[in-house]
Amino acid sequence: MPEPLLHISDLHTRYGATPVLRGASLSLASGEALALTGPSGSGKSTLALAILRLLPPGGAITHGAIRFGGANLLGLPPGQMNRVRGTGIGMIFQQPRPSLTPVRTVGSQLIEVLRVHRGLDRPAAQREAAAWFERVGLSGLLDRYPGELSGGQAQRAALAVALAPGPDLLIADEPTSSLDTDTEARILDLIADLQRETATAVLLITHDA
Ligand code: ADP
Repeated sequence: MPEPLLHISDLHTRYGATPVLRGASLSLASGEALALTGPSGSGKSTLALAILRLLPPGGAITHGAIRFGGANLLGLPPGQMNRVRGTGIGMIFQQPRPSLTPVRTVGSQLIEVLRVHRGLDRPAAQREAAAWFERVGLSGLLDRYPGELSGGQAQRAALAVALAPGPDLLIADEPTSSLDTDTEARILDLIADLQRETATAVLLITHDA
């Protein structure tokens, strides 16, 4: 059997002296979607951040293994880990705006991602950015600043930025909990459509109602 895309085994983390995850394990195959649910405070975001090795100061992984695309993420040198964050794993968060720079248009941020991570020249990146915005239902809005978008539109823009490098895995950490119910349903449909279309694996984190 081929190795799964993501395999977490017996992961333990702590914040200072407080243990938060005590033996978390999961496996996700390429192109597969997995929903991770649990009450607020149960450590779902901690797991997502641990995968990217982005735990906040004071947070530490104390035991366990995280394998992604055949590599042991916990043993990767910083340069290779940056490459995983840039092109291997995309992430969107509960609040889309902090992942977008407020003083630059969403289009220029998407174009930059396409130039840096896909190596496209400016005209190609501009065409690809327009295509992405069409895909996520934001046609014609490349010139907007994040503050000029609604919460749902900002999350669609963040989704385009996360998926544009062509990651193998998208981690979506409560991507709709700041949105109204209608917008929430449309964003979840969009994530499901894009998952099928791009064959990206998705780890969707949601909290129990
Ligand atoms: P969830 O995503 O399931 O709501 P979190 O991973 O955010 O859970 O939090 C799990 C636990 O870790 C909570 O008790 C939370 O208070 C604690 N925690 C989260 N971030 C920090 C931090 N930066 N410092 C200390 N404790 C934290």
